[in-house]
Amino acid sequence: MRGGSKKTSLTHVQASDTFSLVNGALPLLRTDPSRHGILQPISGCGEAQVGMDVAEGCAATCIHCTGGLAGDKYGQPTAPVVEREAGAKVSRELEALAGVGRRPARIRLGVVSDPFLPDPKVLAATCEVLAAAFDGGVPVEIHTRSMVPEAVLGLLKTHPHMVHVVMGVMGMRDSAARVYEPSLPPPLGRLKGLRPLMAAGIPVTVRVEPLIPLVNDTEADLEELFSAVAKVGVKRVELAYLQLTPDTAKSLSRGLPRMHREMLKGLFGQEPWRESPQGTRKLLPRMLRDAGYERALESARRVGLYASVCATVDPDVKGARVCHRALGDAPVVPAARKSTPPVAATQQLGLFKG
Ligand code: SF4
Repeated sequence: MRGGSKKTSLTHVQASDTFSLVNGALPLLRTDPSRHGILQPISGCGEAQVGMDVAEGCAATCIHCTGGLAGDKYGQPTAPVVEREAGAKVSRELEALAGVGRRPARIRLGVVSDPFLPDPKVLAATCEVLAAAFDGGVPVEIHTRSMVPEAVLGLLKTHPHMVHVVMGVMGMRDSAARVYEPSLPPPLGRLKGLRPLMAAGIPVTVRVEPLIPLVNDTEADLEELFSAVAKVGVKRVELAYLQLTPDTAKSLSRGLPRMHREMLKGLFGQEPWRESPQGTRKLLPRMLRDAGYERALESARRVGLYASVCATVDPDVKGARVCHRALGDAPVVPAARKSTPPVAATQQLGLFKG
């Protein structure tokens, strides 16, 4: 069922000839390779959510990326291959889903590729998808680590009640950002870039990810970050510690200084690889995550932020909960300990084995 009688205008970005290099649909999402649609179910974030990317590949070179884009290609940006006619495909799929009574509650845009990369083709496709979602009456949750481009901002402002922007930031230390996210804008710039969104009434959340022991999870680091977050006017933060996938282990191994690599190797070394709805991964020791999250939640509370631990990444820790977006955007407060059975361990893989 379409939500509006009038089509959303795409005048902000001209999408005319931007898809001519690509033929046919791409297997965009890795969460469910058996599905060929552009909209894919997302595990762990509420049943009615679907996810999508406008491109295969990401031109950013974050070494912590869990999107499977780094690994052997560490340091080499992947030229994004943009989905052809992404907006039209989203429209068709939303109509088909509505036809069988399964219209999604929201679309998560930016699962393994950033929708705000400064690439005209990516931005044109992002605008097409946003317009299609707005026309279909389905809200969009946008996950990014980039500045929100002016052209897209104009479109977002036309439907502020149908958008939620989630900005990923590690912390305020530029030195850490240079190692982990060398091609992205500095953290403070990303935070300040949220102001125009909030001024337009668009809800935003800062996602502090990945938290890494002794890199950005000390009390001083967290206080500095949360003060900056509160200062720009953001009210909500969600937290997620670093998790390893086999690809992330490779890119960290290649991109980190030796001392730092050895420290992480020691921390992850005794933990098993686990199968989860998000794929094979390894978490930091539970005690360390529990203590770190408690420290972070307390620190966030002190400056008046609503904070939560992402239950998709850490289903087993104190305070973990499904994000507020999946709960209807209710205010987020740290929840009581929720005990979830541990995911079955699979075979033990070498930590940073290349
Ligand atoms: S911007 Fe996001 S998708 Fe792109 S490399 Fe960084 S973490 Fe991965």
